[in-house]
Amino acid sequence: MALKNKYLVDLLETVKKRNQGEPEFIQAVTEVFMSLEPVAEKRPDLVEAGVFERIVEPERQIIFRVPWVDDNGVTQVNRGFRIEFNSAIGPYKGGLRLHPSVYLGIIKFLGFEQIFKNSLTTLPMGGGKGGSDFDPKGKSDGEVMRFCQSFMTELCKHIGPDTDVPAGDIGTGAREIGYMFGQYKRIRNEFTGVLTGKGLTFGGSLARTEATGYGVCYFTDELLKANGKSFKDKTVVISGSGNVAIYATQKATELGAKVVALSDSNGYIYDENGIDLALVKQLKEVERKRIKEYVNVHPEAKYTEGCSGIWTIPCDIALPCATQNELDAEGAKALAANGCFAVIEGANMPSTPEAIDVYFEKGMLYGPAKAANAGGVAVSGLEMSQNSERLSWTFEDVDGRLKSIMKEIFKSCDEAAKEYGMEGNYMAGANIAGFLKVAEAMKAQGCV
Ligand code: NDP
Repeated sequence: MALKNKYLVDLLETVKKRNQGEPEFIQAVTEVFMSLEPVAEKRPDLVEAGVFERIVEPERQIIFRVPWVDDNGVTQVNRGFRIEFNSAIGPYKGGLRLHPSVYLGIIKFLGFEQIFKNSLTTLPMGGGKGGSDFDPKGKSDGEVMRFCQSFMTELCKHIGPDTDVPAGDIGTGAREIGYMFGQYKRIRNEFTGVLTGKGLTFGGSLARTEATGYGVCYFTDELLKANGKSFKDKTVVISGSGNVAIYATQKATELGAKVVALSDSNGYIYDENGIDLALVKQLKEVERKRIKEYVNVHPEAKYTEGCSGIWTIPCDIALPCATQNELDAEGAKALAANGCFAVIEGANMPSTPEAIDVYFEKGMLYGPAKAANAGGVAVSGLEMSQNSERLSWTFEDVDGRLKSIMKEIFKSCDEAAKEYGMEGNYMAGANIAGFLKVAEAMKAQGCV
C-alpha cells in the first residue's frame, strides 16, 4: 500500500529528510500516516493547527553518556536516551529499553508509537521512551547496578512523577527498575512514583508483571469474539520468552488454547503437547538461561536454532511477542499457508509492512501492537494512581480494570475503523482513535 494524500506525502518527505538513518522511525510514521489519510481529508482544522507536523517531532530529545566500571575495574561507556515525545494529554510515559541494538531511531519509533497507545488506554499519559545500548545479558548483578545508577544519575534531572514516568521494556525488568528507583530516591531525596514496574514492597502494583501478556490475550479475546471465534481449543505460537511472552502464554492457556512454541534471540522450541510454563518461568525469570535448555527437561520437544522458522509451525493464532520486525512477508505467508487466521502483536511493531500486507491480502485478523499490548502501560497508569493516593489495590481489582480497559480499546479501534469506512481494519482504527484524542488536545492547547 502507498500513501496518496499529497499533504501527508510531502510531510513524510520532510520527516525522512530530517530523520535520516532512522528506518524504524520512518516505518512507524509511514504506517500511522497511511491510516490517517481519511482524517487529514475530513479534518482540515487539524491540518491548519499544524497537528500533523508537530506530532512527528519529539518535544525533547535527551542523549547522554553513561560511564560505569565493570567487575574487572575497567571503565565502560554506554549511550543513554530519553525521548519526551508528546505531553498533550499527560506526563510523558513509556519504558526504558536496555539492548545492544538501541540507537536513536529505535527509541524514537517506540516513543512515537507510545503516544497513540497511551491515548488508547483512556488514561492521562503522554508518550515517551528511553533506554541504552547497554546489554544486561551476561553481566553480574553488581555491573547491572552500577550501570543503572549511572544511567539514573543523569536521567533524574529530566523526569519526575508529574513530568515523565519511565517503566520497563526489553532488558529492563524488576531488578533494573529497583536499582534505578533506589538511585533516584537517593539523589532527589524523595519517595515518589517516578518509575512504574516497581517491586511490590516499594509502590509497585499487583498485576503489573502480568499486565502486557494478559492484556494481549484480553484484546485478542475481544477481537476473536467480534469475529465469531474464540481461544478455545486453538493452537497458538508465541515468539519470545520474556515478560510479555510468558504472561501471554499463561492467559492464552487459561482461556482454553494450547501454546506450542516460544523462542529467544538464539532459537525456538516446539512442544506439541503444550508448553510447560512453570519450566519456562524457572529458566527465564529465575535462572536467566536460554530457551534451548527446555529440551533437557522435555526431550520430546524440539529446539531449532534461529528465530524466523517459528512462523512455519502450524497454528491457528500467532502472537509475536519478542521484538520489532521479527515477522516478515515470508513468515506471514507461511502462517497463512498453515491455516493461521489471526496475528495479534504483543511486541512493538513486530510485523514488517510487507507482512501486514499479507495479513490483509489473505483475510487474516490483525491486532496491531499499539492497541493489543497497551495493557502494560495501562497498569503502569494504575500504578501511578495508586502511588498518588498512597494505596495499593488487590490483584483482582487491577486485573478487572485491565480487562475493562482492553475491552474499551478494542471497542474504540472497531468503532473508529467503521466510522472511517474501514471496518475490520483494526490497525487503521487504532491509529485513528489514538491520534484523534491527542490531536484535539494539541489543537486546544495552541501552537506549543
Ligand atoms: P524481555 O526482555 O522480557 O523479553 C524479550 C524477549 O524477546 C526475549 O525472549 C528475547 O530473547 C527476545 N528478543 C529480544 N530481542 C530479540 C531479537 N532481536 N530477536 C529475537 N528475539 C529477541 O522483554 P519484554 O517481554 O518486556 O518485551 C517484548 C516486546 O514487548 C518488546 O517489543 C517490548 O517493547 C514490547 N512491550 C513490552 C511491554 C512490557 O510491559 N514489558 C509493554 C508493551 C510492549 P533474548 O533473551 O535472547 O534476548
